[in-house]
Amino acid sequence: MEKRLIKKDALSGVIDKIASDMVVFAPVQDEDNVLFKQIQKGSPYLTTFANTKNAPKNFMFPRTELLLKYTRTPKGVQFASDATEAQSTVLFGVRPCDARSFALLDMLFDQDKWKDPYYIDKRAKTTVIALACNHPASASCFCTSVGGSPTSTDGADILLTDLGDTYLAEFITEKGAKLIGYFGDAKADKKAEEAKEKMARQAASEIKVKIPAHEIKPWLDANFEHPFWATIHQKCLACGTCTYLCPTCHCFDISDEMKGADGKRIRNWDSCMFPLFTKETSGHNPRPSQKERWRQRVMHKFRYYVDNFGAIACVGCGRCVMYCPVNIDIRKIVEDISKQ
Ligand code: SF4
Ligand code: SF4
Repeated sequence: MEKRLIKKDALSGVIDKIASDMVVFAPVQDEDNVLFKQIQKGSPYLTTFANTKNAPKNFMFPRTELLLKYTRTPKGVQFASDATEAQSTVLFGVRPCDARSFALLDMLFDQDKWKDPYYIDKRAKTTVIALACNHPASASCFCTSVGGSPTSTDGADILLTDLGDTYLAEFITEKGAKLIGYFGDAKADKKAEEAKEKMARQAASEIKVKIPAHEIKPWLDANFEHPFWATIHQKCLACGTCTYLCPTCHCFDISDEMKGADGKRIRNWDSCMFPLFTKETSGHNPRPSQKERWRQRVMHKFRYYVDNFGAIACVGCGRCVMYCPVNIDIRKIVEDISKQ
């Protein structure tokens, strides 16, 4: 793996050069929020922030996405055009938990048997530059409980680590290595690697929240019907905030919008927290209350994804913990299940 060292004050020059050649999204301050937004050469961006409010999954799996267009003619349906082709893009400043979410979403959208061409096209043309967490958010981060770490390289093409006066740039994938020319030619020495290891240990030790996420699956396997499921959902407003901000949630709905003879097929995010999500045309709803919807959320993340792909579908980013308007905490639910 190639590694480079770049002076801290040289980073903006690197990003400017990349932004001259391709589309770059980076964390920026937007009123009270830190959000991923497109930046131009010279635009300000952040390198010291806990995490963005919006998860970067939006760039591979947009909230609303045109899949195809068509026109009805007397001779049948003609497909007028396909979805917009993705551009070469760099996502800069992705926290390691969010980079890991791409590795988890790849398992679903890019399987041997089933391939989602819309996701795969954007993923192939997007280089993820992750930024290691020197100081994880003590109140909400729990990546180390679900298989990640503040310096995880899963899902990233390049990992940048802040070493004080310099950044260590590690080129993880071939796609990442294609950008090596932007980062200068100062090779990383042993001292830099040791400093990174020290920082990695320190950052991991700052994550105080530990949950038994890997221990609850046997209980989930055996207890689809259990009184416990009636104890977690009462406060839930079914607002969907937790699923929309979650970097790994990926439920969607496909609808056709027609105007005259012209139609568009659109994919929109959906949420297992919404009552309509499973409501059938007959009026029957197999998940008739928030109890069944919350059970689904826990089962999907900690049981079904493990069965299907061998991984928990949570990266411990803490967004759902921070932004749930009624303070439902998935970490406490996992803890409570482990005590059953
Ligand atoms: S954010 Fe909270 S209130 Fe909203 S759907 Fe999720 S658990 Fe329910
Ligand atoms: S379930 Fe919550 S903590 Fe886990 S990845 Fe989703 S938003 Fe982050």
